[in-house]
Amino acid sequence: MSESVLPTASSASFGQPPTTVPMASMTNDTAAHSRTADARFIEFDKVALEYSPGAGHAIENVSIRIARNEFVAIVGPSGCGKSTFMKLCTGLRTPTMGSVIVDNREVSGPLKITGMAFQASNLLPWRTTLDNVLLPLEIVEPFRSTFRKNRAQYVERAMQLIETVGLRGWENKFPWELSGGMQQRASICRALIHAPSLLMLDEPFGALDPFTREELWCVLRDLHTANPFTVVLVTHDLKEAAFLADTVYVMGQRPGNIVARHDIDLPRPRTIKQTYTEAFNDVVLAIREDIAHSPERAQ
Ligand code: ADP
Repeated sequence: MSESVLPTASSASFGQPPTTVPMASMTNDTAAHSRTADARFIEFDKVALEYSPGAGHAIENVSIRIARNEFVAIVGPSGCGKSTFMKLCTGLRTPTMGSVIVDNREVSGPLKITGMAFQASNLLPWRTTLDNVLLPLEIVEPFRSTFRKNRAQYVERAMQLIETVGLRGWENKFPWELSGGMQQRASICRALIHAPSLLMLDEPFGALDPFTREELWCVLRDLHTANPFTVVLVTHDLKEAAFLADTVYVMGQRPGNIVARHDIDLPRPRTIKQTYTEAFNDVVLAIREDIAHSPERAQ
């Protein structure tokens, strides 16, 4: 694959051309600014959202900072605002109060730097695995206008991803020929094909059996380790959160806000075997207790 065609994760921001600054040419000021910017890749400052006037805040007073390439999991009871948080991160909603900054810009509309995957894989049934994975490049600029010209390179990139998630040999099959786990692998490839700097995952493994789910945790772990990007994962599965994330945030009942933060200090690379250890269970239990204790708040 030619690097001039597909950006690295960090250069894909807002579809702009790559703007890399060689480390050697950085002044101390530039380097310091870059570090600060990296520590604040996503910044929510006292954010509230009311879906419609008089409906009351779905989330309220949410302040959070996510560093570039950090893997964050958001957990909490149904209806506490996890999906709302995702919509605010990706610009599908703008806050009623406060501000949301992503990659140094105040979010005011849908962002191009994101890839997304959901519980349903939503693969198009008339397209093969490969053509489903390529789909974002046919739609999103700057790839769309050069898609025909660069198709061979895009296919190469897609096949690399397909290989990484263990789908080699299935690229010409249709979704109905794939198992649920395979469909989710393809969905993750599709979310990453344009090298997004931010991957948003909303219960991506929720419909899978426990063994397939564990396999996909490892796939995601390996993808993130090999070529880091920022991840926000919404999940009900506390083991999943503890296995994958650097930081787990617990949201409390509506109006949702952040009630606890857990820095997951378990050593990496994490293994499935580790999830049966006492240290791992202690982490999961601590998160569980924060959910149990999160106060119910009157609107
Ligand atoms: P979660 O993802 O944690 O289950 P949501 O973010 O989906 O929670 O919902 C948070 C609150 O916002 C809930 O009370 C829900 O009913 C409300 N809500 C979500 N989406 C909408 C919408 N499009 N219009 C009005 N209210 C909504």
